[in-house]
Amino acid sequence: MTIKSPVLVLNASFEPIAICQARRALTLLVKGGAAVEESHDVLVWRNMRMPSVIRLSRYRKVPQRRHVVTRRNIFARDLNACQYCAVVFPSSKLTLDHVVPRSRGGRDTWENLVTCCYTCNHRKADRTPEEAGVVLIRMPRSVNVHTARSLMRTQGEDFPLWRKYLYF
Ligand SMILES: [Zn+2]
Repeated sequence: MTIKSPVLVLNASFEPIAICQARRALTLLVKGGAAVEESHDVLVWRNMRMPSVIRLSRYRKVPQRRHVVTRRNIFARDLNACQYCAVVFPSSKLTLDHVVPRSRGGRDTWENLVTCCYTCNHRKADRTPEEAGVVLIRMPRSVNVHTARSLMRTQGEDFPLWRKYLYF
């Protein structure tokens, strides 16, 4: 546990809304903006334990935040399944495919990036799905509330204390 350890942030309504670093969580706690729901058995200072889950004191209207487009987030959204052959692989056996290739102006967005196995990626090469004669198993989407929660679940797999807040 360090000040960079992830902390699950709940809204005042107990709805999970974000993951932040312990450093940020501690600042919120000290300022009274949040209270501890779950903590680790590690003292940060005096009698304050390292938080694992905090809850905001006041309900915050959460804007439809865009989640960062990262390899890990795309794989999590697609549940590690190649979006062309539908086979599930470990992350090490997957790559990202630009549906519309970069060479054709395809961008690094949620809607243009999909999880892809190396075989399909090689077959598709620098072509659109139509040209390559491949079909996406579903249209890539930006994250909504459900995917946002599944991203938090993926990141929270190592934190049993988070479980009851992420699965309801
Ligand atoms: Zn594939």
